[in-house]
Amino acid sequence: MIIVLRPRSTPEQIDHIVKRIEELGFKAHLSQGELRTIIGVIGDESKLQMEPLAAIAGVEQVLPILKPFKLASREFHAADSVVQVGKIKVGGGYLGMIAGPCAIESYEVLDEIAGKVRAAGANILRGGAFKPRTSPYSFQGLGEKGLKILREVGDKHDMPVVTEVMDPRQVELVDRYADMFQIGARNMQNFDLLKEIGQTRRPVLLKRGMSATVKDMLMSAEYILASGNPDVVLCERGVRSFEDSTRNMLDMSSVPNVKASSHLPIIVDPSHATGRPDLIPSMSRASVAAGADGVHVEVHSCPEKSLSDGAQALLPAQYTALMSDLRRLAEVVGKTIG
Ligand code: PEP
Ligand code: MN
Repeated sequence: MIIVLRPRSTPEQIDHIVKRIEELGFKAHLSQGELRTIIGVIGDESKLQMEPLAAIAGVEQVLPILKPFKLASREFHAADSVVQVGKIKVGGGYLGMIAGPCAIESYEVLDEIAGKVRAAGANILRGGAFKPRTSPYSFQGLGEKGLKILREVGDKHDMPVVTEVMDPRQVELVDRYADMFQIGARNMQNFDLLKEIGQTRRPVLLKRGMSATVKDMLMSAEYILASGNPDVVLCERGVRSFEDSTRNMLDMSSVPNVKASSHLPIIVDPSHATGRPDLIPSMSRASVAAGADGVHVEVHSCPEKSLSDGAQALLPAQYTALMSDLRRLAEVVGKTIG
């Protein structure tokens, strides 16, 4: 449930309410807006009486949140959330343009790609050091060596970096190098990983599971938020379907669908959603038009030599042309490239 405070409630009143919630065995999450404070009460609501809480000084209203996700809901936080990744903003009118190779392969290759995507207007660099591959014989990523390269190249090109973490045991290591954690589709419901990440203060890119509903994705975000980390960016990357002419089926409606019930930013990854470079530009443009808070694209300077997902990578020149379209579209929809 949420407790809506009166406009001029004092810090002492807020402290008192938080203490009372904790005494009752619940967790309190504060959302301080410009005009008023809202306190989310997290725990088993069937064990909580609303009336006594409504009687506390400073409380205007106590409301149940009917959705299964609470902290991720618009009832808890009406305005769009803005997630800060390094010095880049994502959400609430700011577009996160994430680009880079699927995997970090070497300093030289990443440096070349980063220079080109940065010049094209990308504002966050991606690259996997721990790769979730379908085959155990495929390239699994460079591990810590890859993380070091990513950090160095990101710093050189003045871009914050995002990289995947697959296991709770990797969180501490990845936290030392990355500006943003990526949770991949295969781990969207790895609840121990979500809880571990929730205890850090790094922003998270949470990708939709390949057979997850929009509600499942929001429940996974809720795990991270409920563990104490408020900075989650969702990512639509397509779901499995009967359609086999694309790698996955891109659910573009998930963008306005999420926005209707959640304040969290959502970006789209047309690379993994379609698996087809010929479809990525149109689907990227459609993403911005649909209200997405950014676009995530895999780019490689020599896709034929790429160690993973080469077939879906855009060439730097194609990415540059796409970004020129996206900049114009951003203006039309009134958004700024973070
Ligand atoms: C990736 O971003 O390289 C990746 C593996 O994506 P997903 O988890 O969406 O399949
Ligand atoms: Mn990939």
